[in-house]
Amino acid sequence: NVSNSWEQRDMQAVFHGFTDLGTLNAEGPVILTHGDGIRVFDVHGKSYIDANSGLWNNVAGFNHQGIIDALCAQARKFPGYHAFFGRVADTTVALSEKLIELSPFDAGKVYYTNSGSEANDTVVKMLWMLHRRNGQPQRRKIITRVNAYHGVTVATASMTGKAYNAEFGLPLPGFLHADCPHYWRFGLEGETELEFSARLARNLEELILKEGPDTIAGMFAEPVQGAGGVIVPAEGYFEAIRPILRKYNIPFIADEVICGFGRTGEMWGSVKYDMQPDIIVASKCITAGYFPMGAVILGKAFCDALMKVSEEAEEFPHGFTAGGNPLGSAVALKSLAVIEDEGLLGNVNKVSGRFMARLKKLGEHKYAGEARGVGLMGAVEIVADKKTKQPLPGHLQISERIANKALKKGLICRPLGQAIVLGPPFIITEAEIDQIFDILEETVDEVFADVGL
Ligand code: PLP
Repeated sequence: NVSNSWEQRDMQAVFHGFTDLGTLNAEGPVILTHGDGIRVFDVHGKSYIDANSGLWNNVAGFNHQGIIDALCAQARKFPGYHAFFGRVADTTVALSEKLIELSPFDAGKVYYTNSGSEANDTVVKMLWMLHRRNGQPQRRKIITRVNAYHGVTVATASMTGKAYNAEFGLPLPGFLHADCPHYWRFGLEGETELEFSARLARNLEELILKEGPDTIAGMFAEPVQGAGGVIVPAEGYFEAIRPILRKYNIPFIADEVICGFGRTGEMWGSVKYDMQPDIIVASKCITAGYFPMGAVILGKAFCDALMKVSEEAEEFPHGFTAGGNPLGSAVALKSLAVIEDEGLLGNVNKVSGRFMARLKKLGEHKYAGEARGVGLMGAVEIVADKKTKQPLPGHLQISERIANKALKKGLICRPLGQAIVLGPPFIITEAEIDQIFDILEETVDEVFADVGL
C-alpha cells in the first residue's frame, strides 16, 4: 500500500532539517532500518555504503558489538542520571579521567553536553563568565572564521560562516569572522603558502586591534574546517596566528567535533596542526555515533580561573539535563577504547594512503579544481575551469546531482557547495575504499554526460 509506505509516513510526519525539500519531494526520503559494517540498509533491503560515517561520527561502523554491549550493560546497571548539584554517575567520572588522560595538553576538568553545538555554546558562556567577573573589562566578542561550522544554536550559528545564517538574520552582533585559511581558493597570485598564512595572521591582528583586544572573549577554530568543505589549513597557519592570540591574551578554542579521536590520523587535529589550544571541544566520535554527547575539555589554567570565578558567583549557572548521562559515558569509554586500543586509529593511518591516492586521482578529472584532505576526510571541488577556479553555473547543481546519482547506486556521499565530501568510517578497508571511488568515478562521468559536458 503506497499511501501507507514508510516514505509516505515520513513525508507526513517528519520535518527534516538540512534537507533540500525540493529534492525530498521529487525523490522521496530514504528510510533506514539497520546497518552492518560501513553499510546501512533501507526498508526495501537496499544497501548503501555510507562514505560519510553518518555525519562523521559512526566511525566504528553501524553494528559494533563491543559498543552495543557496553551500552546494554550500563543500561542494566544505571541507565540515566544528571550531573547537577554535585551528583554524578561513577561512569561519568571515569570518562572524565580518560578524556583528561587522552587530551594533548595539561587538562583541568571536563564539562558535558548533548551535542557539539551545545558544547561550543557552553564555551561561549564560559568565556563570557570568565571575563565578567575577574575585574577585566567585559569581553563579549567571539572570533571564528569564514566557512567555519560550529553548530546551530543561536550563538554557534552566529559563529558559523555565512552559509547557514541568512534565513535567521544572524550572526548576532559581536560575532566576528576572520579569514578562511584555504590557500587554493584565497591565495593571491604569486603568494606562497607561508606568505598567505602570514597575511592572514596580519589580518587577524588588524581585526583584533580594530575591535579592541579587551573586547574579545576568545577565538574558535576547527583544525580542518569540515562542513566548510574539508579545508585543510595552509602551511604555517596556526603557527602564525597562535602568537597573536597569546599577545592579546585571547583564549584559543579547538573545535575538535569532527577531527577529535582520529579523523586526521592523529588522535587530535590540534596536535596534527600544532594549534596549542586552551580548550578542546569534542563530540561525534566520542561515542562513535551511538549516543548524543558533547564534551568541553578545559586546559588547567583556564579551568582554574573559571572555577575561581564560579565559586565567587556561587556556581557556573549552566547545564543540560542529560549532560554527562551514564549511558553516554559508558558508550564513550568503550568507543575511545575501540579507537585507541582496538586499532581504529591505526587503521585510519593504514588506509589513508589509499584514500588520498584515489581522491587525488578523482581530482585529475577535467572539472575537478582541487582534491584535498587528510587522514580519512577528503573533498573534491568541481569547477568550470581549473585555472580560473570558477564554479560551474549554479543551475547545474553539479555536486547535488553527483550525490543524488551516487545514492541510487548505493553510495552515500555529501555535496557541500561545489565540493563532494567523503569521511568514511575508521573501520574501512582498502577494498571498500576502492569500491567507493569506483562508484564515484562512474557517477561523475555519467553526471557530466547527463548535463552535456
Ligand atoms: N562543530 C563542528 C566542527 C561540527 O562539524 C559540528 C557538526 O557537524 C558541530 C560543531 C555541531 O555539532 P552538533 O551537530 O552535534 O550540534
